[in-house]
Amino acid sequence: MRRVGVFICHCGTNIAAGIDVGQVVEAAKEMPGVVFATEYKYMCSEPGQEMVKEAIREQGLDRVVIAACTPRMHEATFRKTLADAGMNPYLLEVANIREQVAWVHTDKEGATQKATDLVKMAVAKVTKNEPLYTSTIPINKRALVIGGGIAGLQAALDIADAGHKVVIVEKEATIGGKMAMLDKTFPTLDCSA
Ligand code: SF4
Repeated sequence: MRRVGVFICHCGTNIAAGIDVGQVVEAAKEMPGVVFATEYKYMCSEPGQEMVKEAIREQGLDRVVIAACTPRMHEATFRKTLADAGMNPYLLEVANIREQVAWVHTDKEGATQKATDLVKMAVAKVTKNEPLYTSTIPINKRALVIGGGIAGLQAALDIADAGHKVVIVEKEATIGGKMAMLDKTFPTLDCSA
């Protein structure tokens, strides 16, 4: 059984004014796999992140859900928080209850229900997350360009200019594609061949 921790952010009044955060916390405590749920005023602040780390250690959490702003803003921040606490950083899910809920709804009761649903989905998702690891592998720095038309030739030249070997494959007997069939091209009337 997973040990999921749920951390719900107020973002000052950005979230707390539009959602009953306490109610979402209580609902989160009842969700399958959740062993710890709490709220905090500014989750991305130093004290907020310390609180997450402390809970990971003290509660033995193995999955974390942060309900806060868009993951574009702080997903990387919280992945690092997990890593600092000794967890794989990908055992995290972020529920966006600011941009997708608090900022776009005026009905607090409905918004609270929607936030609860988003947290529930994030909890369900995070229980399925597996640890991921970054790795570096050697690659063959040669390129294969399929088609010797004008685009293929230009791509091959650009790659070659960048210092890499290129092989062009063309099914016709000549290169140049459609370009080679034209006489002159606008606006300079250059000979296309
Ligand atoms: S984590 Fe996001 S929602 Fe929470 S205080 Fe920071 S910016 Fe606001």
